[in-house]
Amino acid sequence: MSTATSSGTPRVGILQSVDYLRHYSKRRHPENPDRLKACSQGLRGAGIFHHLTEISPRRAELDDLQMVHAYEHCVYLRELAESGGGMVDADTYVCDASYEVACMAAGGVMAVVDALAGREVSRAMAMLRPPGHHASAGQAMGFCLFNNVALAARYAQIQRGFGKVLIVDWDAHHGNGTQEIFWKDPTVGYFSVHQYPFYPGTGAAGETGEGPGEGFTVNVPLLAGSGDEQFMAAFEEGLVPLWKRLNPDLVLVSAGFDAHVRDPLAGLNVTSRGFGRLARFVLGQAGEVPVAFALEGGYDLQALSESIAEMAKACLEIPSHD
Ligand SMILES: [Zn+2]
Repeated sequence: MSTATSSGTPRVGILQSVDYLRHYSKRRHPENPDRLKACSQGLRGAGIFHHLTEISPRRAELDDLQMVHAYEHCVYLRELAESGGGMVDADTYVCDASYEVACMAAGGVMAVVDALAGREVSRAMAMLRPPGHHASAGQAMGFCLFNNVALAARYAQIQRGFGKVLIVDWDAHHGNGTQEIFWKDPTVGYFSVHQYPFYPGTGAAGETGEGPGEGFTVNVPLLAGSGDEQFMAAFEEGLVPLWKRLNPDLVLVSAGFDAHVRDPLAGLNVTSRGFGRLARFVLGQAGEVPVAFALEGGYDLQALSESIAEMAKACLEIPSHD
C-alpha cells in the first residue's frame, strides 16, 4: 500500500479510544479526560478529521511492558488499581481502571508502530493518556505510569525491525524517564527541549548520555519566558546534529503542549502555530522516515485543541493560515 493518497497527501494515522477517558482522578487534576476531548474537538473544528486513518489500540501485556519496565513496577500498578487506586506520589494518581488504561496506551503506541512498519500510514498521531515520559523503568511519577514512547521505541526495535530510533521531546518538562531508560544506548537518541530549572529537575545541557550512549542524549534547557524562536533555534542547533549522528529509521515525538503560552503549569510561550512549525521541522528532517507524535502533557484545553489541529495540518501538509 502506498503511504500517500491518490491526491498526493501523506497518509496520516490517528490513534484515539474511549478507553483513554477511563483514567481519572476523583479530585480535580490537570491531567484529566477533558484533554482528549479537546484534542478531538480541535481536529473536528479544523475540518481535517476525515483525512485521517484510524488506528485501533490494543492492550499491551505484561511481557510487552517488560521490554522497558521492571516486573515489580507493572505488578505494583496493577495491584494498586485492583485495590481501588491511590496516589503513587503527590502528583500521580491511579484509579481502578488506570492499569488497564495504561496498558491500552502502551498497546496503542505499539499499534501505531505496526501501522508505520506496515506502511499503512507514513505519519501518525497518538492521542492517548496517561502520559509517559516521566516514567522510568521502575518508577511512576509526574502523572506518568508507563513510558509509552520508550515502549514504542523498544517494540519497534525488537518486534518490527527498526534499527535506530530518535525520540524528540518538546514537552515543557524534561523527560527524565525516557532519558534514563536510553542513557547508555547508542541506538535510541533522545532530544529534549524544556523549561529549566523546573520539574523534575533533570535535563541540564551537560547530561549527554554515558558509555556507548555518550552523545546520544541532547538536552536544551530554556529559561521561563522562552517561546517559538528559542524552540526553533534549539531544534536547529541541538536536534539537527543528533539527527545526523544517529541517522534514525523511526522518529517518535513526545508531543506535550504544556510549553504553550496559555498553559497553567509551565512558563514557556510557544504558540499554537509554533507547535505546527515544530512538527513541520521534524517532518522536514524526517523525509521518508516514519514519524509518530504521541501526546504527553498540555493542560489548557484551548491550547491543546488549537495545537493538535496545527500538528495535524503539518502531518497532512496542509498550509497553516493566520
Ligand atoms: Zn509536561
